[in-house]
Amino acid sequence: MLKIIKTYMSNRRNFIVRTSALMGSTSILAGCAVLPPSKKKLTREKKNIGSVVIVGGGFSGASLARYLSILSQGEISITLINREKFFYSCPMSNLVLAGYKSFEYISHEFTSLVKRGVNVLHDEVIEVDPLKKSVRTKTGMFFKADNIVVCPGIDLDFAAIDGFDAVAQRTVLHAWRGGMQTIALRRRLSTLHDGGVFLISIPPAPYRCPPGPYERASLVANYFKKYKPKSKVILLDSNPDIQSKKTLFQSVWERKYRNNLEYVPNIEIAGVDSKRGILFSQFGDNFRGDVLNVIPPNSSSRIAHQADLVTDNDKWCDVNWRSMESVRYPGIYVLGDATLSAEKMPKSAHMANQHSKVAALDIVSKLKGRKKFSNYKIVNTCYSFVDEKSAIFVSKVYSFDLKVGTVKPIEGAGGVPSQESVILGKQAYDWAENIWLDSLG
Ligand SMILES: Cc1cc2nc3c(=O)[nH]c(=O)nc-3n(C[C@H](O)[C@H](O)[C@H](O)COP(=O)(O)OP(=O)(O)OC[C@H]3O[C@@H](n4cnc5c(N)ncnc54)[C@H](O)[C@@H]3O)c2cc1C
Repeated sequence: MLKIIKTYMSNRRNFIVRTSALMGSTSILAGCAVLPPSKKKLTREKKNIGSVVIVGGGFSGASLARYLSILSQGEISITLINREKFFYSCPMSNLVLAGYKSFEYISHEFTSLVKRGVNVLHDEVIEVDPLKKSVRTKTGMFFKADNIVVCPGIDLDFAAIDGFDAVAQRTVLHAWRGGMQTIALRRRLSTLHDGGVFLISIPPAPYRCPPGPYERASLVANYFKKYKPKSKVILLDSNPDIQSKKTLFQSVWERKYRNNLEYVPNIEIAGVDSKRGILFSQFGDNFRGDVLNVIPPNSSSRIAHQADLVTDNDKWCDVNWRSMESVRYPGIYVLGDATLSAEKMPKSAHMANQHSKVAALDIVSKLKGRKKFSNYKIVNTCYSFVDEKSAIFVSKVYSFDLKVGTVKPIEGAGGVPSQESVILGKQAYDWAENIWLDSLG
């Protein structure tokens, strides 16, 4: 009987039939016609309370899609547009560079988000209209939504460095955005002769991941020490000092890498000669290397500029920290590295993930007509490997108070360890697994 009825009914009614049968209903057809209130509930179709289009599917964009889906219980239509087909993680990419992890380890798919009902598209957004709340993509797709959230990460200002043209960019790599440059730079390091010099240049702060270049220098020095003992890392810093975990990095370098890592502060790269392998400082000093790794000055990604969301120094997008909406266009949200950082807030994956939770709560409260929250606390923890097994970390807790109107670090909350350890290395691997799951799972 059940089988015959099934053949003639829509999927939805099928569900009713099966439900009635499972509940021991005596009359399947009667169950279809007039359901008691409790059963009606079971057959109710999902409401659609609003729509969100997310530009960029990195740490902030992917986490936002996941949390919108969880908090709204599927009642928001979510479109996530990311240029690349894969989610390439910058966290842990320095381990790939030093040859301790595979590229697959940091490459992830969006399949779990798709299973959650998120419409994931691989396309490039070329226009965001913040007034009409619309988005246009390179392949000609057009979207209008109740909420647009811009999560595009950073762009790199090659034009700030003389000679850093398209030809130079083929050999002088940055590997500062997830993806193929990580593999390419790894290849260059693995084919470097013993005795070769690896030059890294750090841009002026603020830049993505303050401890990232120091971690990179430590891991490559560790790789050299093991496999190319005559090779050397030279770290040229535009800034006057180490930007994060200073005493911890200094202590490790002094004990482990004294012979193959040199740190030079106050050297901003003004020019590059890719053919001769030379970097020129702002003072005209020359630094020669066999592999050049220049990280140009950072700013929020191009699409944030196009969307007129950049408010600070032609670089960053200031936001209302209560909701993560743009100060210039309330109703358009900006998350992650593209934001003008609050006091002592790093541009990190952990922070980007936390931004997404603030925005998700605000959007869901708004669409569900609930009271918006006014205070919150968020946290940042950032591990850095100093060899393939040991790590150090820094953590900080931040508080938003409506009366203060911005996010501030809480004095005394957080800290750093006394030194690196293998236990912290294990925690760092766990941290990565957790944040990938929390963003994409
Ligand atoms: C070497 C290195 C190590 C790091 N280690 C750590 C760490 O250990 N811990 C930590 O917390 N942070 C770390 N970070 C920092 C972290 O990677 C960034 O802070 C984080 O990725 C920022 O997230 P986001 O969402 O703002 O940007 P992203 O994660 O870069 O995502 C932006 C996405 O938007 C896409 N996009 C951009 N423009 C468009 C467009 N127009 N259309 C469609 N898609 C677009 C991009 O392709 C990208 O996929 C590290 C960074 C580096 C470089």
